[in-house]
Amino acid sequence: MPLAGPVRQAGSISLVIPCYNESANLRPLIERATRMLDTLEGAPAWEMVLVDDGSRDDTALQLTLWSAREPRLRSVLLSRNFGKEAALTAGLKAARGEVVVLMDADLQHEPELVPTMLAHWRASADVVYTRRVDRHTEPMFKRVFTRLFYRLLNATHPRVRIPADAGDFRLLDRQVVDALSQLPEHGRFMKGLYAWVGFRSVEIPYTPSARASGRSHYRLRQLASLSLSGMTAFTTWPLRAASVLGVTLALMALGYGLWVTASYLLWGSRISGWTTIVVGMMLLSGVQLLSLGVLGEYVARVFEEVKGRPLYIVARELGQGIGSGRTGE
Ligand code: UDP
Ligand code: MG
Repeated sequence: MPLAGPVRQAGSISLVIPCYNESANLRPLIERATRMLDTLEGAPAWEMVLVDDGSRDDTALQLTLWSAREPRLRSVLLSRNFGKEAALTAGLKAARGEVVVLMDADLQHEPELVPTMLAHWRASADVVYTRRVDRHTEPMFKRVFTRLFYRLLNATHPRVRIPADAGDFRLLDRQVVDALSQLPEHGRFMKGLYAWVGFRSVEIPYTPSARASGRSHYRLRQLASLSLSGMTAFTTWPLRAASVLGVTLALMALGYGLWVTASYLLWGSRISGWTTIVVGMMLLSGVQLLSLGVLGEYVARVFEEVKGRPLYIVARELGQGIGSGRTGE
């Protein structure tokens, strides 16, 4: 998209970074991000909101030390590990900037891309998100799984399209941040929520770097659980699919019954159907259990939501960030 001339100027910017066991990455991350923020066009006031998601290493301690040294570094320490989606939500709530950029702590999201995102924002985009173009380096199963997941997720949702390959590395305008924090749900599938709130979005293609240190927290089990929560939060077609499957099977059974009766009456043939009975029974009980499982997923989700527990608990908040009086000079 060609960039138009600047129409708005960011007075303040927040970087929101969820951190779980990232102690080895914090120093390079903070140094690189600070360098980038200090050289931004128009010298906006800035803050970094680092959310410690109940790390088991010394991430929390390091964040405490950093915040004491640099008041523009704010640390939100959660009381335990709540998961990335909750940590992001906590960071978004704490952020005070006019523009908020979400990024990972492992330097897969390069801070140097932020000026480009800001340029798009100035040219009136409210959301600037990055789309991964490097999927070929991922394991085969993950690629197939991701493609299938987004295909199913977007199967019936003409109004809200959740873009595949869109990452959490994104810039959000204040309006979008406020809209997101109005959404009360607990099963937070952030990629879906960004799409749900809408606003003018621009996509920039991007190749994430390798993780600086440590390894990904998302393995098959976490990915499966995240996708399940995305499915139940954004589509109800699996419920309908269960009904359609039921109706189809019932019709097939009816047809088969008619055929058996007719062939008995017309030709007097009796079917000695041990196989038919066993296969039929197994198929039916499989379909029934499957439908029950689908139903169960939705009921579980309703249960999670009605409990109304908070999404996360903040144990401590440190640093001052924007509004401290020391920023924006
Ligand atoms: N993260 C988190 N809580 C968790 C798991 C991950 O805050 O329970 C953070 C993590 O510190 C990192 C980001 O989420 O900043 C992305 O995690 P990771 O790099 O493990 O995922 P991947 O890049 O493989 O998607
Ligand atoms: Mg990562």
